[in-house]
Amino acid sequence: MTFPLPWQLDHVHAYLLESEDGWIAVDTGLGTPEARGLWADALRELAAPVSRIVVTHFHPDHIGGTGHLVELTGARVSQSEIDHRVAQRVWGSSDWSSRLALWYRGHGLSAELASDVIGEANDLRTHVLWPREPDVLRPGEKLIAAGEEWEVVAMPGHADGQIVLLGTTTGRMLAADHLLATISPNIGLHPESHGDPLGDYLTSLDRTIALRPSVAFGGHHHPVEDPAARAAELKRHHQERLEATMTHVGQESLSAYEVSVRLFGTELPTHGRRFAVAETLSHLAWLEANSQIVRVEVDSLVRWERP
Ligand SMILES: [Zn+2]
Repeated sequence: MTFPLPWQLDHVHAYLLESEDGWIAVDTGLGTPEARGLWADALRELAAPVSRIVVTHFHPDHIGGTGHLVELTGARVSQSEIDHRVAQRVWGSSDWSSRLALWYRGHGLSAELASDVIGEANDLRTHVLWPREPDVLRPGEKLIAAGEEWEVVAMPGHADGQIVLLGTTTGRMLAADHLLATISPNIGLHPESHGDPLGDYLTSLDRTIALRPSVAFGGHHHPVEDPAARAAELKRHHQERLEATMTHVGQESLSAYEVSVRLFGTELPTHGRRFAVAETLSHLAWLEANSQIVRVEVDSLVRWERP
């Protein structure tokens, strides 16, 4: 199923797998009245009920509609333990937007942009009906649906608790945002991230290459026809981005905001800047973890430089 999104990335896919106990919905879209209506229409057309919802990761366009779908179906929700913990800290915390804005201020965002971040984060949370008590979905666990056994595989990077489903007979992968055909999945550092999301992601890309899926159905755009080749391409992309980051940091001591301007230009709307700074930070954190640069904090402003 494809749901509209009110952003530049204007749609998101959820998937339905038929099982003996009813349909398994993999992701739910954003929790808007429009998406709720689309679910209600779809449920009328399905011969069997939706009995289970699998959340691949806590991002609003994947988890946001879960509350509506539970209301409509009474389905149980499954989510990885790490992802649920992050969802609690983000969507279950009343001061998330101000913590986020303060953190971005520390990475060089202006007061004006930081206040826009608060506004956007507050707007967003009204569309995130996240599950409070999901069943824990463990990597290695299997589901039987759509004619085969699907293994839950952890693919941290885009989100710390990101999981994908891999069909063990056909090699089909429900990849969510781990692998996308036309855009590079955002690998961002945020206040609730594990310290090196890019390192995690590069490992997950290697795991993808080793698993050799036959096709990957992502959360956005068309399916990835050669997932191993796409994973290799994304590894090269991040390698180039790391080299470009090193070039800028090599010349002077810079905040993540300043590096993001050099990498992504000045013309970005607030949400675009937020993604650009988070993506820049995941590269800076990788370079720090690999002893190529150091972070220097002066008066609550973090800057990066060569050691
Ligand atoms: Zn996502």
